[in-house]
Amino acid sequence: MSALPPSKGRLSWAFDLAVCAAGSVITLVAVVRLLTSDRLDLTWVLLIVVGVPLIVIMARFPLVLSRGETGLEVSFESAALLCLACFHGGTGALGIFALGQLASQLTTAKRWDVRAFNVGISVVSGALAVTTMRALSPLDETSLHELVAVSLGCAIYFLTDYVVSAVSIGLERRTSLLAEMRQNNGVLAGVLFVAIDSLGYLMTIVLRGLPPWASVLMAVPVLTILVATRSISRGAEHQRRLTALFGAAAELQGAQSYDEALETLDGQVRSVVARVRAGIRDTPPGQGEIGVPLTTGDRELWMVSPAGGRARSTVAADRQALETLASVGQEALSRLRLGEQMARQAREDALTGLPNRALLLDRLGRAVRSASAEQPVAVLYLDLDGFKSVNDRFGHAAGDDLLRTVAARLRAHVRDGDVVARLGGDEFAVVVEQAQDEAEVTALCRRLVGAMRAEITVAEHEVVVSTSIGVAVSTPGADAALLLRQADMAMYRAKALGKNQYVRYEGSLGQERVKRLELIEALRHGIEHELVVHYQPVVDLPAGRTIGLEALVRWQRGGVLVPPDEFITAAEESGLVVPLGAWVLDQVVRDAPLLVAAAGHDLDLAVNMSALQLRDPGFVAQVGRAAAALGGSRLVLEMTETVLVQDDLETAETLRQLTRAGAYLAIDDFGVGFSSIGYLQHLPVSALKIDRSFTRDIDLVPRARALVDAILAIASALDLDVVAEGIERPEQAALLAAGHCPSGQGFLFARPRPLPEMLETLREQAADAAPREISARGA
Ligand code: C2E
Ligand code: CA
Ligand code: CA
Repeated sequence: MSALPPSKGRLSWAFDLAVCAAGSVITLVAVVRLLTSDRLDLTWVLLIVVGVPLIVIMARFPLVLSRGETGLEVSFESAALLCLACFHGGTGALGIFALGQLASQLTTAKRWDVRAFNVGISVVSGALAVTTMRALSPLDETSLHELVAVSLGCAIYFLTDYVVSAVSIGLERRTSLLAEMRQNNGVLAGVLFVAIDSLGYLMTIVLRGLPPWASVLMAVPVLTILVATRSISRGAEHQRRLTALFGAAAELQGAQSYDEALETLDGQVRSVVARVRAGIRDTPPGQGEIGVPLTTGDRELWMVSPAGGRARSTVAADRQALETLASVGQEALSRLRLGEQMARQAREDALTGLPNRALLLDRLGRAVRSASAEQPVAVLYLDLDGFKSVNDRFGHAAGDDLLRTVAARLRAHVRDGDVVARLGGDEFAVVVEQAQDEAEVTALCRRLVGAMRAEITVAEHEVVVSTSIGVAVSTPGADAALLLRQADMAMYRAKALGKNQYVRYEGSLGQERVKRLELIEALRHGIEHELVVHYQPVVDLPAGRTIGLEALVRWQRGGVLVPPDEFITAAEESGLVVPLGAWVLDQVVRDAPLLVAAAGHDLDLAVNMSALQLRDPGFVAQVGRAAAALGGSRLVLEMTETVLVQDDLETAETLRQLTRAGAYLAIDDFGVGFSSIGYLQHLPVSALKIDRSFTRDIDLVPRARALVDAILAIASALDLDVVAEGIERPEQAALLAAGHCPSGQGFLFARPRPLPEMLETLREQAADAAPREISARGA
């Protein structure tokens, strides 16, 4: 993760090598001259023994002006060189200095090339300084002239050292020489350097004029300066670290994402320890490295820095700085990660991991905006058929399993770029961009319908669900929400057409369908609290007595009683008729005891039933419970012929199950638009309800009467009960009775009424009937 410095270029290597080579030659010559000198007396041996370690120690206390592998450090061992050069005529001074430099670099832990370069640059600078001084002064007598020569030599040393290292660093980092020199705070370094090195000359004066023990006094200023230098360096280091840490905190605060914060932090690790090879990685520190763990939720990372080439105290301070940085970083990273997780959760469905409705609308919006007439966007709105029953039968965990499987199947069947989203419940959506090829979209729909039919194992049961799909294709200027709504409408159509299929949205579904959708939404919420059941009597025609009641639903929508004609079709299209029918059935079961008590005898209680209810897996069981609860009264299920002419095996089987469960089946609106009455032979039907359109004109139009007679004949032949609907006038009733129609229903007898009124009516009828019964018995 940490960016390595750009590798050294050829020029950089050549320059460094040249410096090393020059240094080596000078070292060799100087050391050889030192060792072969005839002036190598005891004093010189003593100077070597004391001087070399002194140089090593002085080199350990540099003034650090900028830290890092290539940072600038100014050390003051050149003061020793100056002193030696002025002492005893200077012979061998460079040799001792070179030996000291070698010893000093050999005992550090820097990169070998850095060490070689350091020796080279010191020796070259030293040689130039000594040569300058010699050229200007014999260096054998304390004088102002000699002081000037020494100061100049000192300046030459510094300049050489400074410029050569700046060139070397500039070449290695590929930056400009001037930039390097400016960055390194050279003026300050130069002033300090000359001041400190002049101490070397002071030492010379002491050695020349005072007894040797007096030189020990020099230790005081030298040590003071070294200690001060060290604390200046430490202070600068400390400040640099603090600045880096404060900077880090500020920069992290502004980070917008986890990744951005991590990248920022990675750079900050480098600036805090001033090491180019430091950084963040996911492996712990190894040999020669220090590291601090950085834990952010699920990820374990490390801030690692090389530890070599630094004083132990510096390494400890580095580690401490990294620890601080880690805790600052950890806080920022955890905060950002949490934020990102929350943002993801707000846009992602937790169960399936698919985008949710909000994200889908977002993506769809983008897709729609970049779509064109040639390259439209298609959106598929999918709703599972029969999901609720899986949930009811096997529990929510199984339902969740099923949804996850469905999600995976959807993903597997779309192209990589297509968005699959879960809209909620058992509804999903697929966005297909660049849907110019209509056949391709159709093929996708067909594939998805097919894929959903495959068995799914949930809770150790094999279940089969199907899906209804609505497809809407964008037109220029369309918006995402509208497109999704259109697909939704088309999906309802697919449901109404019998499910397990796809329907493409047509423009004509527009306005009126939007109203219908609103109606459906309102009804969805109203099922539990806004529906009421009204009852209309079914009358024994010859006797004029109530033998049954038909339950007719009404919707109390905001104070207005909405008749079923205005919402049943929508309820059927939306599938809402299933819960609606279930509610009506329950209500009838609840009302039945009151009705029977009011009537004084058992009743045929009829409810209207939709085709969709037949496919509801819980329906047969519910009917069974209802029929049982009604006791002696019969439960009649009224269904229109359209249910029966579907004539598939499954429907026939369900109808048989319903009769086995105790229900009686009646064909509602009989005679309207049927093409075949063959089904009457083999389906377990008990009664026909002659549609109102036949009875309406029975006393006025002879053909109408003939038709009713024909129906009555069929019913009698098949041994079916008959109820004539829509009897409004006594003439109709009389004619029907004469034609042996056993029972009828209509406004003549009673309009559909709410329960309390119906109870009243039944009680009155019962009271009217009682005396007649008594007199009949008495006769
Ligand atoms: P339907 O099953 O044919 O119900 C009879 C309809 O005829 C009722 O209308 C009733 O008020 C009306 N009616 C009864 N006698 C007369 C009469 O003498 N003259 C005239 N002109 N009309 C008469 P309603 O209550 O508006 O119901 C309309 C349709 O709504 C019903 O037709 C039925 O198909 C459906 N429906 C009603 N309740 C339910 C229900 O709970 N579930 C389902 N699936 N459908 C229902
Ligand atoms: Ca009916
Ligand atoms: Ca009817």
